[in-house]
Amino acid sequence: MSSEQDLGITESKQHNTGEWYAEVVKKAGLANYGPDGMSGFIVTRPRGYALWEAIQQELDSKFKATGVQNAYFPMFIPESYLEREKDIVEGFDPEVAWVTHGGHDELEERLAVRPTSESIIAPYMAQWVRSHRDLPLRVNQWCSVVRWEATETKPFFRTKEFLWQEGHTAHETHDEAWDETMTRLDQYAELYEDLLAIPVLKGQKPGHDKFPGAHKTTTVEALMPDGKSVQAGTSHHLGTSFAEAFDITFSDEDEETQPAHTTSWGLSWRALGALIMTHSDDQGLVLPPTIAPEQVVVVPIWQEDTKDDVLDYADGVADDLADSGVRVELDDRDERNPGFKFNEWELKGVPVRIEIGPHEVEDDEVTIIHRPDGESITADRDDIGETIQEQFDEVYAKLYAAAEENLDDSVRDADSREEILGTLGQHGGYVKAPWCGDEECEDPIKEPLAAEIVMCPFDDEETVGDDETCAICGDDATQTAYFAKNY
Ligand SMILES: [Zn+2]
Repeated sequence: MSSEQDLGITESKQHNTGEWYAEVVKKAGLANYGPDGMSGFIVTRPRGYALWEAIQQELDSKFKATGVQNAYFPMFIPESYLEREKDIVEGFDPEVAWVTHGGHDELEERLAVRPTSESIIAPYMAQWVRSHRDLPLRVNQWCSVVRWEATETKPFFRTKEFLWQEGHTAHETHDEAWDETMTRLDQYAELYEDLLAIPVLKGQKPGHDKFPGAHKTTTVEALMPDGKSVQAGTSHHLGTSFAEAFDITFSDEDEETQPAHTTSWGLSWRALGALIMTHSDDQGLVLPPTIAPEQVVVVPIWQEDTKDDVLDYADGVADDLADSGVRVELDDRDERNPGFKFNEWELKGVPVRIEIGPHEVEDDEVTIIHRPDGESITADRDDIGETIQEQFDEVYAKLYAAAEENLDDSVRDADSREEILGTLGQHGGYVKAPWCGDEECEDPIKEPLAAEIVMCPFDDEETVGDDETCAICGDDATQTAYFAKNY
């Protein structure tokens, strides 16, 4: 049994996307499935968790630079708290896991394992806010939440427990809460575009698909190579519904008591799912240099008579890279040949490989290979730190361009039910159609195709003409709906 066979990816991304994805996650060492009897749970391995940490660091610094502080609230929510905002109860009730016993004793009141934390954070915000001088109030927590969905496990995309951040803010006015909602949405879009090399569409969820109790839910959507959309992060303007349910009030400058306007916003490890799905290939994981745990692997290639010189030189290159702040690994294992090493590091998603053999030593050069497309470049040994940064930019640009091309080619227009169904069935991607705003006009698409309205653009007033009619029912159109299959 060849170990190369065990190591490599056997499924095809194009033909068997689901199995291929599961294989990449497992063989690149990102996650394992949870124990038997706990379907829907995964174990995140150090390599997977390192990617999550990189996302955390990026977002956390953005949040802190814009007035957010971290806090932590209990993972349990008393049932009576959850019931105070009726939309939350209705929205999450089928997915809530309950704690009924503490040790051997039955609890007087059941405790929900948080499916989201508005219901336990809002009552404390109510205590902390007294006057307009206490506003805006912005807290964020990094935690996990549990939603007991009975669906097939897909690591990072669909799990019962998932890691995320949830931000919660309170403001004096409706407009300030809207600015906050959009600030966070923009930060999510930047995370995707600047760290994960994934372009996103920004918009709002249709009214019937808002967060329970929200005035408006905004979303960033990312298109996967299989033509399905991922809801990649959401930011909610909650209006005053939570403030009214939980008494978050403040006295304004005239000493009048007013309800606060609140927001909440969350981004989960689904971002990792999108990252893996977007860039990886039939050789394994592909990561942008911005997030890769090892940005460069240096592989020395030697014969017995050249070994000392090659290893010496490779060691120096790796040291120089490390000194210039590059995350670099020198693979000088004796027991593996270069071909095996190439395959292994490709599987693990290291974006740039440097090969060093006797020729490179002799010519004072290095050979640089880009993981995404195998492009090979010969560069001078001197200024390797600077050279490698340019190569990182090129690799990033290649990954972004490929994802952008997929997105640009996958937004199509339709103006009848048949055309929406036909286009989605044939191509996937997004199908734009004028829409009246009524949920009933989503059903004729949802039932046969399991596609739904994933978002409507913000600039609807400008894009929907006066004479346009709903593609489904023929009434006046008020919005442009983006239909898509989704994760
Ligand atoms: Zn309609």
